[in-house]
Amino acid sequence: MKLLENKVALITGASRGIGKEIAIELASHGANIAFTDLRQDEQAMSVESTLQKLGVKAKFYVSDASSYEDAQILIQNIVSDFNSIDILVNNAGITRDTLLLRMSEKDWDLVMNVNLKSVFNLTKAVQPIMLKQRSGSIINISSIVGIGGNAGQANYSASKAGIIGFTKSVAKEIGSRGIRCNAVAPGFIVTEMTNVLSEEVKEIWTKEIPLRRPGTPKDVAQTVLYLASELSSYLTGQVLRCDGGLQM
Ligand code: NAP
Repeated sequence: MKLLENKVALITGASRGIGKEIAIELASHGANIAFTDLRQDEQAMSVESTLQKLGVKAKFYVSDASSYEDAQILIQNIVSDFNSIDILVNNAGITRDTLLLRMSEKDWDLVMNVNLKSVFNLTKAVQPIMLKQRSGSIINISSIVGIGGNAGQANYSASKAGIIGFTKSVAKEIGSRGIRCNAVAPGFIVTEMTNVLSEEVKEIWTKEIPLRRPGTPKDVAQTVLYLASELSSYLTGQVLRCDGGLQM
């Protein structure tokens, strides 16, 4: 059964990693896909053609999620190309890990802008469209470190915790208009973001995971699919951990 037939989904930062897998998962359930990244490169074009081969309409847009102006222009362009936006997945994110002692103001600001301000930018820009439709599902990609914190990630953890507060507030503001807003908190997922970790750190983490394996982008994408679809019609303001039980 296809869960998202004729829906339009926007996914930020989807040229690779978790965002790419979310785009493929939603498209394989019939959603038309608009997706963004900072650059139009081979990876972006290859994702676009993969999605089109799944039989849906798919279009890539260059857009910096941390820019308020870019978000406004992006939403206008998507509405003119696709007519509506039913699902927004705020996925774009970066890390600049170091201990607070060494963390620069620049690395704090950058991480907050790309990870947290982007969620404000895109949600704010899409809100009028969803309000008019009186329906929509907004899914924000947080992290378990936004719940539990992590040494060396004060900026990243703060941005991901901020996403959770934002998600719950928006859920309360616009639930009465038929718009749901939830967050996913992935644990240790194998992507380029986590490839920078040493083998030793990866082994330690994996031993602590009750399901005894790191997550895949597909694990996260299926959680997003659930929140995007009507299967989760009575869920809003929730944070779903997708972490193999690492944090309970
Ligand atoms: P990734 O492999 O590094 O991919 C991140 C994507 O976001 C890239 O395509 C990147 O583009 C894009 N991006 C970066 N800055 C952007 C901006 N300003 N505007 C638009 N796009 C931008 O990371 P990932 O592991 O897939 O992570 C995806 C999301 O999951 C992030 O929010 C991350 O914090 C969250 N998460 C990941 C894990 C994990 O273990 N991997 C765990 C918890 C949460 P470029 O290719 O141009 O850099």
